[in-house]
Amino acid sequence: MAMATLARSVLVTGSNRGIGLELVRQLAASPRPPQHIFATCRDASGLRGKALQELAARHPSIKLIQLDTVDLPSIRGAMQTVETHLEGQGLNLLINNAGVGSQATLQSVDAQEMLATFAVNVVGPLQVAKEFLPLLEKAAKDAGTEGLSCSRAAIINVSSKVGSIGLCLGVLEAPMYPYRASKAAQNMVTRCLAEELRDKGILCAAIHPGWVKTDMGTEQAPMTVERSMQGILEVLGILSQETCGAFLDWEGNRLPW
Ligand code: NDP
Repeated sequence: MAMATLARSVLVTGSNRGIGLELVRQLAASPRPPQHIFATCRDASGLRGKALQELAARHPSIKLIQLDTVDLPSIRGAMQTVETHLEGQGLNLLINNAGVGSQATLQSVDAQEMLATFAVNVVGPLQVAKEFLPLLEKAAKDAGTEGLSCSRAAIINVSSKVGSIGLCLGVLEAPMYPYRASKAAQNMVTRCLAEELRDKGILCAAIHPGWVKTDMGTEQAPMTVERSMQGILEVLGILSQETCGAFLDWEGNRLPW
């Protein structure tokens, strides 16, 4: 589908496989790709980053950058590299995609599993948002527009429907205590950021990609990553004041928190 540039600069965490990789692939392949696609992952030069290295080699707009979302020096290092590439411009769109799943049940769950899941799914997105805030604020200020949008400045947190307390979907079949609790907590982080950053011109929202065939979603998932990302990119393109602070799925439907 023909699409205007979503944003001049976009950063995606966890972009070496799954949803993050497909996001970067579709952004780079769009008719008017962003000027800068900062494709980050924790093992940028190693084997885990191979598919992304190959993609980056074919698209000059993709800059592959090391970023482990639970390692503060790594986040700060990535921020400095991004700042250098931007040459005085701000960062328009931050997509916190990196996440980990957990199948733990009431019987198998332990403190270590809870904390490890929270580290990546809650602390990670918050710390990344915090460190990149000056660049997002710069983009919001320099945009010369008033409204909120992904092309001006935005933080998008990839969430999950199973983290919705309102829906409490399929708990008996798939308890996933650490994962569900972490996404519910991540959602609160998104809501707080939305409230706090709205007046600075930065939009924040949570997006559920659907149940998607990735390592995390497994082969059982009904939807391809291509289909889900087409939907997500369309939704990102129409976010505004009205959807700032919302929890939406890949089709733009509102979900209860
Ligand atoms: P995958 O397991 O396929 O990929 C997860 C990605 O996150 C990998 O790139 C992984 O990198 C990265 N990651 C994990 N920990 C870190 C870290 N500390 N620093 C940087 N990157 C990290 O999952 P999906 O692509 O399916 O999931 C992406 C997001 O979508 C997640 O937030 C997930 O919760 C959410 N989601 C997915 C659904 C699905 O059906 N697939 C449904 C609902 C939500 P590495 O290769 O180094 O491990």
